[in-house]
Amino acid sequence: MTFVFDPAPQASVAIAGEESRFPVRRIFCVGRNYAAHAREMGKDPERDPPFFFMKPADAVVDATVNSNARIAYPSETENFHYEIELTVAIGKAGRNIPAAQAQDHIFGYATSIDLTRRDLQLAAREKGRPWDWGKAFDRSAPIAALHRVQDVGQRDSGRIWLSLDGETKQDADLQDLIWSTADVISIISHSMELKAGDLIMTGTPAGVGPILPGQIVRGGIEGLDDVVISVTEREGG
Ligand code: MN
Repeated sequence: MTFVFDPAPQASVAIAGEESRFPVRRIFCVGRNYAAHAREMGKDPERDPPFFFMKPADAVVDATVNSNARIAYPSETENFHYEIELTVAIGKAGRNIPAAQAQDHIFGYATSIDLTRRDLQLAAREKGRPWDWGKAFDRSAPIAALHRVQDVGQRDSGRIWLSLDGETKQDADLQDLIWSTADVISIISHSMELKAGDLIMTGTPAGVGPILPGQIVRGGIEGLDDVVISVTEREGG
């Protein structure tokens, strides 16, 4: 096969302790999956079923402690937010997966940040328009190295936190997820087939807020590598 120009490089994520990388197919994201965060966004966590949005595969950015990830303050926003999230990586395809069998499809887990142009997201929400411009922009998914599930076990509990310039802003436990990782895998797979290479960002706890140029964002999940980014000035002035 020939192409009229070179295809884009395969988007991928580092795997802890390995040379090989995890090729990314799609990035699913869960909206409002912690009750306290749903409340801070002005929604009732008891009444809203889970819903999803997506980011392009090449939104991933290597953001381990040693990768010195720098992300420029994005265009068209004045309210650029962090959201610490557990990412689950799918290693085996499946459709209509029962929650009790979801773990058979998990490759591993990583700590990640769902970077958000909050002003654009909220404007779209108010108008009933898609969230893509608020959520699916370039470099909006910094992620630390994946850990294989056989190395770290299922991540159903444990501290999840984020700091801005060293000050803790988000601090919760994975047990607080409204829809567990297994629930989320099952629900998505009843709507479309999950495939190896899919990532699922499982939602953020309360405490989201703005990042300014020059600030350093660091987040962690118990048992996994930390994610770290520094945000630089907006490109092109
Ligand atoms: Mn999110």
